[in-house]
Amino acid sequence: MTKTSAATTTGRPRRSNGQWIIDGRAPLNPNEEFKQTGTSPLDVRERIETIYARQGFDSIPSDDLHGRMRWWGLYTQRAEGIDGHRTGTLGPDELSGRHFMMRVRLDGKSVSPDQLRVLGGISNDFARGTADLTDRQNLQYHWIEIESVPEIWRRLESAGLQTIEACGDTPRGFLLSPVAGVDADEIIDPSPMLETIGRRYLGRPEIANLPRKFKTAATGHPSLDIAHEINDISFVGVRHPELGPGFDLWVAGGLSTSPRLGERLGAFCTAEQGPDVWYAMIRLFRDYGYRRLRNRARLKFLLADWGVEKFRQVLQDEYLGYELPDGPAPARSVGNPDHVGVHEQKDGRAYIGLVPQVGRLSGDVLIRLADAMEGAGSARVRLTPHQKLVVLDVDPDAVEDFLAEVAPLGLTARPGPFRRSTMACTGIEFCKFAFVETKAAAAALTAELDRRFEGVEIGTPISLSINGCPNSCVRIQLADIGLKGQLAKTAEGSEFAYQVHLGGGLSTMGRAEAGFGRTVRGLKITADEAADYVERIVRRYLAGRSDGE
Ligand code: SF4
Repeated sequence: MTKTSAATTTGRPRRSNGQWIIDGRAPLNPNEEFKQTGTSPLDVRERIETIYARQGFDSIPSDDLHGRMRWWGLYTQRAEGIDGHRTGTLGPDELSGRHFMMRVRLDGKSVSPDQLRVLGGISNDFARGTADLTDRQNLQYHWIEIESVPEIWRRLESAGLQTIEACGDTPRGFLLSPVAGVDADEIIDPSPMLETIGRRYLGRPEIANLPRKFKTAATGHPSLDIAHEINDISFVGVRHPELGPGFDLWVAGGLSTSPRLGERLGAFCTAEQGPDVWYAMIRLFRDYGYRRLRNRARLKFLLADWGVEKFRQVLQDEYLGYELPDGPAPARSVGNPDHVGVHEQKDGRAYIGLVPQVGRLSGDVLIRLADAMEGAGSARVRLTPHQKLVVLDVDPDAVEDFLAEVAPLGLTARPGPFRRSTMACTGIEFCKFAFVETKAAAAALTAELDRRFEGVEIGTPISLSINGCPNSCVRIQLADIGLKGQLAKTAEGSEFAYQVHLGGGLSTMGRAEAGFGRTVRGLKITADEAADYVERIVRRYLAGRSDGE
């Protein structure tokens, strides 16, 4: 393989970015060091099962506790009883408690009623009833004790579910259109391609130590329902004039503190080529990705230095071994990508998009949803990248009974506009990075806003995202109104508040292209002020918007 030299710009000696293929593998920071110990960070599983689960929390060394356990979807959650908030003097590791968040990756696959019962049983038996949907189609538990982990894995895996590489510097959980294979307007069903990628490549040691996380998404739906601009690789369904349906490739998007939208590679691939293209891309990232600084390690920094043309050339020449044809861009999005409501499938049955309260379910809700689905003839449900659920294959005659049955579970297909379009991250209840509370604040805020705007015609939904810190786990920069928890300076010292981002959005709902919201200088609001603030902004927007806006 001919290695491609790194971007250098001046006559000064080049500083190593820790690119394996250019600089060698000598670790340049403690994270890189622990990742290279042993065959793979995935080796930690054996220690969890044979040592830590038997000997207890205190037997776990720091590199495993705060490092390798993520490779199996385990993160320490925020300590119980720490007074107040993250102060700026305490780091995330010091705020760690003795319980874990466990993330189950679903990769956009449909979940059967039996699998829901397994997920619900684990929630009730080991996670104090918690079960949160994430905006990456994962399900997260809290309050997990290390002693329970082997039994949880046994139950999950016997039901065909897994936590492998759900966190860590790995190929993270895949996003898939929640209506893949069922919607009549779909251009191409990407689910077999993602299945193949997962089956072939998850857990492979040679791609289990990446510079940072690597996010994958695929859709063939015209609503562009997988936030394709913020993944490391996105397969977006298009029709090639000569080659037929396939995918337009988008690369190197990502949010967090240096947000960058993904870019079109300009290349087209078929569903059959998809797994090879994915594997080529992830090895390119493994070899050329920057490993010196973690906050400059995501693929987006490499693309920023190389540009799309070089990126595509290296991908084709050094990893794929053939050229991809040029292809068309996706058409402007059509329809709401959240899929909320009752919709007809191409086979005449119905799919129903359900809204929980800010992504929060419980063990009992999962179990009772399974019963309701079976009563309505459905054998599968998918999670969505909007913290929602889509129940598939519902008997059209059973829709209203089904909706009546799930309403007491807090699930609705006909939510108010703010409940529908609001997402909230985990926040200070469990997350050691958080500055502020988010879930309860978001639930109260959306209820209040839906009350204040009852009967008002809002039209295109106004998205609202509430984050507990700048990490952007629910895409604050890409919401119409994003609220970001932070420690804000005041005349008296500091206080916990939300910084406001306005005017962001993905290229969905007919919007031509994605764009980041802008912060309003000096504008910070508290949770108590949020309803008045959002109401003012929305009323001003409704009064002043132009036709078609
Ligand atoms: Fe935690 Fe911050 Fe992510 Fe919210 S955005 S879940 S507070 S890391």
